Amino acid sequence: MALERTLSMIKPDATARNITGAIIAKLEGAGLRVIAQKRVKWSEAQAQKFYEVHKERPFYNDLVAFMTSGPIVMQVLEGEDAVARNREVMGATNPQEADEGTIRAEFAENIERNSVHGSDSAENAAIEIALCFDESEIVG
Ligand code: GDP
Repeated sequence: MALERTLSMIKPDATARNITGAIIAKLEGAGLRVIAQKRVKWSEAQAQKFYEVHKERPFYNDLVAFMTSGPIVMQVLEGEDAVARNREVMGATNPQEADEGTIRAEFAENIERNSVHGSDSAENAAIEIALCFDESEIVG
């Protein structure tokens, strides 16, 4: 087990429904600590850059439109095996396949409007955190 950091985002479908607190409670309940947090609204260019790896996917334009449609809450989570633990509490991308009790099973609307993002590896976590936060914003 290693103390890790991961990037977490609460997506526009969830900020619109006023359920950010319920989602953060699940993350904290899974042993993850919020060590940086901000509510932002992405420009199209910011969303395109963040999701550049999905550029060739058929849902890319829809995803960018969705992620710029309202505010998002961006956070750095820290904890033992934080990357895997966050993915576990998030549940599968498609809420219909997500395990009971996970954030997506409970809150997601569909495969796109699925309430949360979480880095999928320690390497990507470091890249995503650096893209979204200044070092001075990570306050513990
Ligand atoms: P994640 O790591 O579980 O978030 O999943 P991916 O990295 O595969 O996809 C990134 C995001 O793109 C997902 O969280 C969804 O918001 C969206 N997405 C993934 N697959 C689909 C799809 O088949 N259709 C649509 N419309 N959106 C998708």
